[in-house]
Amino acid sequence: MYNNYQNHLSGILNEIKEAGLYKSERIIVSPQGAEIELNTGQKVLNFCANNYLGLSNNSSLKESAKSALDNYGYGMSSVRFICGTSDLHKELEAKIAGFFGTDDTILYAACFDANGGVFEPLLTEEDAIISDALNHASIIDGVRLCKAQRYRYENADMADLEKQLIASQAQRYRLIVTDGVFSMDGNVAPLDKIISLAAEYDAMVMVDESHSAGVVGETGRGVTELFNIRGEAEIITGTLGKAFGGAIGGFTTGKKEIIEILRQRSRPYLFSNSIPPMVAAAGIRMIDMMTETNELQDKLHRNSEYFITSMTRLGFDIKPTKSAICAVMLYDAKLSQEFAAKLLEEGIYVIGFYFPVVPKGQARIRVQLSAAHETEHLDKALKAFEKIGKDLGVL
Ligand SMILES: *Cc1c(COP(=O)(O)O)cnc(C)c1O
Repeated sequence: MYNNYQNHLSGILNEIKEAGLYKSERIIVSPQGAEIELNTGQKVLNFCANNYLGLSNNSSLKESAKSALDNYGYGMSSVRFICGTSDLHKELEAKIAGFFGTDDTILYAACFDANGGVFEPLLTEEDAIISDALNHASIIDGVRLCKAQRYRYENADMADLEKQLIASQAQRYRLIVTDGVFSMDGNVAPLDKIISLAAEYDAMVMVDESHSAGVVGETGRGVTELFNIRGEAEIITGTLGKAFGGAIGGFTTGKKEIIEILRQRSRPYLFSNSIPPMVAAAGIRMIDMMTETNELQDKLHRNSEYFITSMTRLGFDIKPTKSAICAVMLYDAKLSQEFAAKLLEEGIYVIGFYFPVVPKGQARIRVQLSAAHETEHLDKALKAFEKIGKDLGVL
């Protein structure tokens, strides 16, 4: 039996390779950080991690995790509602709610699970979900698991959102859902306008702050801080796997009754293990750090501004961004791969993206800035971009 199926899979794998879409993985043998070492022995500057605040290898978070490891053990061996809830989980949930100015929080193993488990318990076929076309895969999957009517609007297009709101007026409840920052362009959802439209057309709002929490807004509270609308979105989801330490874990935070229903009915919460106590402890420390000082957020903002301004001055075509994502537009798929490969030879690790990850003819290199980067790192990257840009005729 397996022989036939094996041939079938080999055929698909070959197609993926021939299309140039086969993903291979570089192997890192050092901790995650600004400078990493690959298993080839090469040391490179990392500009493609979601390590926005440089916390992936932070000594204070490691201390909190180690101490929780000693005091609470390695794992919970249970889902939350049976015997998987420790005081650390409850404390972290309260801290996250305080951070975003919401009522309560529910933790998940990942934001993929938070998004996968948020729609189905809250909405039925009588209701409507109105989703941005560029929303994260986990939102798309979560919407698929829910019976609500589906409406889609073009990325950050408020005229189209209004059209969909009008079209969905016959439904009982409406939920608009958007990423806070879209990961391929780095653009921010116009959440102030979304909230106004929601008020006008009687809808609720959910925003996924995975790429914006810790990053966007003066103190890193995300897009609701940027637009001065903290506490106004009914639902916020996010991850502990990006700016917030980079380990594992996700959350939904928002209105009290919504979180309460999710604790009763959300399947990834009810049927999956709780996060390890050491991850919860480090999460608590992370929120405390971000509350005590704005040092890391400030440094990230300075680094992003410095890099993006310098790249623009060099003559690169940069997508408008308000995040720590800088999309360097090259338009040609092959050029994006060649450019990234040459950057790696110069010790700069970035990824070139092309169709189908981004639209056809929109190939680019995505640079992600971090508070872990020092000025000398940024200057080295800028120099490499300039050199290769000239060599390849981009500049
Ligand atoms: C990364 C990401 C997720 C998934 O987060 P995990 O915690 O890694 O599962 C969900 N939504 C968005 C918008 C993301 O960028």
